[in-house]
Amino acid sequence: MRVILIKYGELNTKGDNRNFFINTLFNNIKNKLNGFDVIIIKDRAKMTIKFNDNDLESIEDIISKIFGIHSYTVAEVCSVDIDSIKSKVLEVANKLEFNTFKIETKRSNKNFPIHSMELNNILGGAILKSNSNLKVDVHNPDILLKVEIRNDGVYIYYKVCPGSGGYPVGTQPKALLMLSGGIDSPVAGYLAMKRGIPVDAVYFEAIPHTSLEAREKVVSLCRKLSVYTNCINLHIVNFTPIQEEIYKNCREDYCITIMRRMMYRIMDKLSKKYKSLAIINGESIGQVASQTLTSMNVINSVTNMPVIRPLACFDKLEIMDISRKIDTYEISILPYEDCCTVFVPRHPAINPKIGVAIKEESLFDYDKLIDNAIDSVNTIKIDNARDNEFDNLL
Ligand code: ATP
Ligand code: MG
Repeated sequence: MRVILIKYGELNTKGDNRNFFINTLFNNIKNKLNGFDVIIIKDRAKMTIKFNDNDLESIEDIISKIFGIHSYTVAEVCSVDIDSIKSKVLEVANKLEFNTFKIETKRSNKNFPIHSMELNNILGGAILKSNSNLKVDVHNPDILLKVEIRNDGVYIYYKVCPGSGGYPVGTQPKALLMLSGGIDSPVAGYLAMKRGIPVDAVYFEAIPHTSLEAREKVVSLCRKLSVYTNCINLHIVNFTPIQEEIYKNCREDYCITIMRRMMYRIMDKLSKKYKSLAIINGESIGQVASQTLTSMNVINSVTNMPVIRPLACFDKLEIMDISRKIDTYEISILPYEDCCTVFVPRHPAINPKIGVAIKEESLFDYDKLIDNAIDSVNTIKIDNARDNEFDNLL
């Protein structure tokens, strides 16, 4: 029989919370493997998944994207007796191509009478006897065959695959991600989820200045992100009336500053409405005029919510690398207008003054417009990479 063994990684550091972390990971794995014929068993050190052989590739693909998993391996299992172990080790070795090898035994089941070193010798000897061309190399072997003697069985494996790391999604309270169609914000959402935060997304759209294709792009990005979590609610805010008022009433170089202050005000209210504890966005220091430290101060001052900027200190090239890894890059570079790019002033204020921003904002009744925008939010649920969620919106 073969099983997948999952090791927890950073979970190991979580003293009293350990059970909560393990249970959350267990539920996340169960959710993601819903539809597969599997049995998942958890204990304090690892999780074991029994599966149908045909499903291995699909299950590995899913497992490799679940946060909270340090590494996983596909192991052969046999009963805790020396003859079974020997024949299983030979069976595994016979399927592999190598010249040099090493056996590493770990005996957590102390009732098993043969000590690790002795077992290494017995099993190594059996492999050498089966093929006289092979050699033991303890420093740099072609194959490192691991044998773990546990109470419930013996696990034999040779290839350990890295997991996604981080903490299981759901070990922190919910937060709201400001999701534009760009490269940065999906990456920011991915990194926040990696810290265990379940993320819902907010998209500000400005139809007819932005297109339905732009919305579709954001839905596609959400769908990509939903692979790493259970389900994402995408809240779509109609930003058109606010944006039009800003451009009608306010001085041109402050339009972006004020537009972003309005977005943050809406995020603040939506956070309360949806019981979210932080705002997450893709801002990166110095990237554009609204992301200088001076601009961030003026913009951030409209909310007391924690604003988490996972990319604050990342270079664009580093961000692009992650976006390729999580498969959002190709969607992000599709050329549809975002509300931030439709009315770009020629010289946006790089060092805006808060007094000027407040004075310009007082030229129109934004409170009412913000309340209207919140009352008319359109929400779609985006669930595990299925294809049909946005059909009814287009
Ligand atoms: P990205 O930063 O995602 O590549 P962008 O470069 O178009 O997109 P910026 O102008 O850099 O966006 O805005 C900084 C951040 O503000 C974005 O990363 C995103 O979190 C948020 N944001 C910008 N526009 C929108 C929008 N239309 N809806 C929701 N959030 C937005
Ligand atoms: Mg950006």
